Order: sequence, then structure tokens, then C-alpha cells
Amino acid sequence: MDAVVVENLVKAFGEFKAVNGISFKVREGEIFGLLGPNGAGKTTAIKMLTTLLPPTSGRAKVAGFEIKNKQNEVRKNIGIIFQDPSLDEDLTGKENLEFHAILYNIEKKKRDEKIGEVLKLVELEDKADVLVKNYSGGMKRRLEIGRGLIQEPKVLFLDEPTVGLDPQTRRHIWDYIKKLNKLKKTTLILTTHYIEEADYLCSRVAFVENGKIVALDTPKALKDNLGGDVVSLQVDSEGKEEFIRSLKGARWIKNISKHEDFVDLNVEDGERRIPEIMAIANKKKVAIKHVGLHKPSLEDVFIHYTGRTIRDEGGSTKEQMRSRHKAFTRR
Ligand code: ADP
Ligand code: MG
Repeated sequence: MDAVVVENLVKAFGEFKAVNGISFKVREGEIFGLLGPNGAGKTTAIKMLTTLLPPTSGRAKVAGFEIKNKQNEVRKNIGIIFQDPSLDEDLTGKENLEFHAILYNIEKKKRDEKIGEVLKLVELEDKADVLVKNYSGGMKRRLEIGRGLIQEPKVLFLDEPTVGLDPQTRRHIWDYIKKLNKLKKTTLILTTHYIEEADYLCSRVAFVENGKIVALDTPKALKDNLGGDVVSLQVDSEGKEEFIRSLKGARWIKNISKHEDFVDLNVEDGERRIPEIMAIANKKKVAIKHVGLHKPSLEDVFIHYTGRTIRDEGGSTKEQMRSRHKAFTRR
């Protein structure tokens, strides 16, 4: 059965459509990701699916219930972990879980049982009686994930589950997420703007940009579809368009995307093609400042569909592109 079915869902704030007609299905037991830059509409989509925000149009079913008129049933079957921490810092970890279980009307015996179980799952048993204000960022996030599981949701929504955490803690959280999906068979829907997070965790990923889904598939299929290698050229902006025009004549180039002062080419056997590419550049008297070669990543897929990197957020774009380029060429 499908855990979630979304059909043409729209959320408008005045004239502006934050979510602009998205459709997808999530199968039971999947880890499904909405991946996109800040402002893409991910949180707004999650808020509609969790009944916190009414849709402007379209429809969706979560755990078999319509979000529009079966809100209580939907809520009974889901868990939500939001981007902003919502723990009571002056309570212990265990008290936070108890408070949540009481809200969900779970009776005492079952409550103690569930609390013990989730504390074990997120490995906080020995910190259960410590005040949350003394927890590290990673421990807090683990407690929130545990809390989202108390009521045994069929579908658990995680909005940017590792934002603000250091890379090592992020890895740990990923492992908890994988573990609970495997042990509990909980269907997970997460949003993220971290490419690696989507790549590592998700069975399928939807790329979201400007309120729309621009691509949707398994991470592997998305990358395989680009094919071959990516040859990434940093080009002196003068002559760039002319250069691209002449590259378009080469039939072995499967795809050309440009962003900032970079031109990315999808080709088979990238190493062997670099001399040919340089020859074309020479002929056109275009200065190539830098050449990199790598296997397509989800970032490349995103660039392919949107013509921008996922982290393009105003000012520091160029800097980000450079560091991205460095990271690739180091591999
Ligand atoms: P994401 O989670 O992908 O970063 P959001 O769903 O939070 O994106 O926001 C999508 C867009 O909708 C943004 O441009 C944001 O400013 C806008 N938006 C979100 N909530 C509101 C609101 N309540 N009123 C007006 N605009 C909003
Ligand atoms: Mg968000």
C-alpha cells in the first residue's frame, strides 16, 4: 500500500505559490526525501501533509486518510520532527518523553514500555534522567527523534533532521534514522538541503525547486541517467558562450550545463576526452582556468535540472562553487 499519496498539492500565500502543484507517492517502508535549496517549499509541503497548514488546492492521503477532512486520523498515524528544537530544556529526557506520551493518551504501562524502548533505540538510556539543557546538540536531536516515535507512527516526518549538527553527529543521526526504518518499518519522509544526506538515506528522492518537483527517482537512477563522467571546466567568462556553441557540435557530449563561470560536460570516458575538449577551447581561444573530472553526484543531477547548485543562496555562490570544484578535483 502507499503510505502517502500527493496529487497536485498547492499552497499559496497571497499571489505567491510556495508549493506549486506537487505530486508523488511514497510506498510503505520507504525513506523518501524532498531535496531542495532553502525556500524551495519543503517545509510548507510537510506542514500540509501533517495537517498543520490547509492546502490551497490539490489533495493528499497520509496513512490512508485525506488531509483535508480526516485530520484527526492523520494526526494519530504520524510523527513529526521539526527543524526548530521543541524540547523542554528544564525537564529530563525521560520527562520530555512522558509529557509527549500523555498528550497522546498512552496509558501508564504502555507508556513506560514505549519510553524504555525509544530511549534504547536512540541510545539515551543512561542520559534519561539528565536535564535536557545539559544535552549536546546531537543528543537533543536523538531525543526528538525518539519522541516522534512514542506513538508508533505509521509515517514519520523529519524536517531537516540534521541541520545545525556537526558532520560526525550528522552521520550518527543518519544511522539512527536507518535503524528505525529497518527495525520498525516506519515510513519516513524527510526534507533536506544536504545532498549527501539524501544520497545516503533515501530510497527515492524528489528534487524540489520553486515549489515544484523537477526530478524524482532513486539516487542511483538519477545519477546513472546523467551517464558517464562529468568534466567540469572553469572558463574565463569571455568567449564562454562561443565555447559552449562549439561544444554542442561534439556528439559525444551528452549534456552541457553552465553555472557561474563553470561549464560541466557529461561524457563517457572523461579522461580520454579532456585533450579534445582542450583542443576545442584552444581553437576558440578560450582560456580554461581549471579542469576537474568526477562521477556524477546528486549535485550534478540538481545542476542538470535547474542550472544552479543547491546551495546557491545569494552572495557567496562563487566561493561555494570554488570549494565544490576543489572538493571534486581532490577525489
Ligand atoms: P523550505 O522549507 O524549502 O526552505 P519553505 O516551505 O519554508 O521552504 O518556504 C517556501 C517559500 O514560502 C519561501 O519563499 C518562504 O518565504 C515562503 N513562506 C513560507 N511560509 C510562509 C507564510 N506563512 N507566509 C508567506 N510566505 C511564506
Ligand atoms: Mg524548511
